Amino acid sequence: MDKKLVLASNNAKKAAEMQALLAPLGLEIVPQASLGVGEAEEPHVTFVENALAKARHAAAATGLPAIADDSGLCVAALGGAPGVHSARFAGEPKSDERNNRHLLERLAAVPESGRGAWYYCCLALVRHADDPCPLIADGQWHGTVLAAPRGNGGFGYDPLFWLPALQRSAAELDAAHKNALSHRGGAMRQLLRLLRDRPL
Ligand code: IMP
Repeated sequence: MDKKLVLASNNAKKAAEMQALLAPLGLEIVPQASLGVGEAEEPHVTFVENALAKARHAAAATGLPAIADDSGLCVAALGGAPGVHSARFAGEPKSDERNNRHLLERLAAVPESGRGAWYYCCLALVRHADDPCPLIADGQWHGTVLAAPRGNGGFGYDPLFWLPALQRSAAELDAAHKNALSHRGGAMRQLLRLLRDRPL
C-alpha cells in the first residue's frame, strides 16, 4: 500500500465503519488523530459544506489526500432537525445518551405514524487542501423513531432508529449488515464508483 488517505473523523465508531467501507480501495487509511490532527470547525448549515470543511482541514494539516463524512438524523416531525446539529442536539459536551433522551422528549406527543426519519451522509474527498474538484457522494437511510431504545450495536441514534421492513433497530444489526444498508454505506459505494473514473 503506497498511497495514504487521511480519515478526517475523531468519532471512533464512525471511523471504524468508514475503514471497513474503504477497504476495497487498497489504500492505507490513516486516522487524522494518529497524525495529531484535531477536530475541524463545522459551522455550516448543510452537510456537504461541513464535510468539505473537515476534509480540507485534514488535508491542510497533513499535506495528504483526505476523506470526511458529515452525517446526521433528520426527523420529519421536527422539520428535518437535528440534521447538521445531530452530534450536539442536547448541547455540549457531545453525548449520544443525552441526544437520544432529548429526541424522545421532543417526540413524546408524536404518534408512531408521524415518527418518520432518515439518516443522511455526505462524503467529501479532496486530493489536497485547495482541490477545486472534490469528489462528493451522499446517501440516505429511511426509518422511524422508536419510543424506547433497542439494541447495543452501532452508535449515536441507532438504538432509536427503527427499520420497519426488518423489524429491528439499527443497533440490532451487525456491522456488515448496517454498512450494507446505511446512509454511509450508500454514500461510500457511490464514492468508490466516482474514484474508478477519477483515481487518487
Ligand atoms: P458528525 O460527526 O459531526 O458528522 O456528527 C454525526 C452525528 O450524527 C453523530 O454524532 C450521530 O449523532 C449522528 N449519526 C450520523 N450517522 C449515524 C449513524 O450511522 N448512526 C447513528 N447516529 C449517526
